[in-house]
Amino acid sequence: MATSRSAKERAGEIANRLEALFPGTAAELCALEFASPFQLLCATVLSAQCTDIRVNLTTPKLFEAYPDPQSMASADRSTLEHLIFATGFYRAKADHLLGLAARILEVYGGEVPEAMEDLVTLPGVGRKTANVVRSVAFGLPGLPVDTHVLRLTKRLDLARSTDPVKVEHRLNALFGPEVGGAMSLRLILHGRSTCAARVMKCESCALLDLCPTGQRCQPITL
Ligand code: SF4
Repeated sequence: MATSRSAKERAGEIANRLEALFPGTAAELCALEFASPFQLLCATVLSAQCTDIRVNLTTPKLFEAYPDPQSMASADRSTLEHLIFATGFYRAKADHLLGLAARILEVYGGEVPEAMEDLVTLPGVGRKTANVVRSVAFGLPGLPVDTHVLRLTKRLDLARSTDPVKVEHRLNALFGPEVGGAMSLRLILHGRSTCAARVMKCESCALLDLCPTGQRCQPITL
């Protein structure tokens, strides 16, 4: 029974099964296309309220025009807004891209910083985006927590808080910070394929015997 094992024991087995289903590093599992930490940072900012597919359709022309902090910081605003229009919230996102590029130039010598406390000082960059950059671009510990990760970890009873920062710390303690980025992406991929917000495919889920929610949803056999 899922509930007879500790969260730590279940987390270890869940990690093994998800790794078998979705092998690879955080960089290999990330769907966003980029050629540098700066481009990943921009792509992640654009992915807010937008699909990775649409971001990947948008960034080739954006990065052709503005591939680095120098060119982005001096971008023509109307041209920039036109290039990112399809990702939605284009005015705010243009503000963020211009602002973060300028700050990277002025404060960090043109290089995207690696430390969480530095990344979150960049305009438009919260803890989730910073963790994406740390884990995917730099191969450092970093566990992004989005709505998929919150939903999956609640259903799997690995974390009960709705506070993303508390869930991030809880999951790092359960999985180990070194696998955080890849584990976050595996949870997202499993959520999309099997454990969506409205439809749970528990009968075919590889985590069914480890999942209290899935166990509760199974028909009782007499
Ligand atoms: S068993 Fe059901 S609720 Fe649990 S992770 Fe799988 S699909 Fe989601």
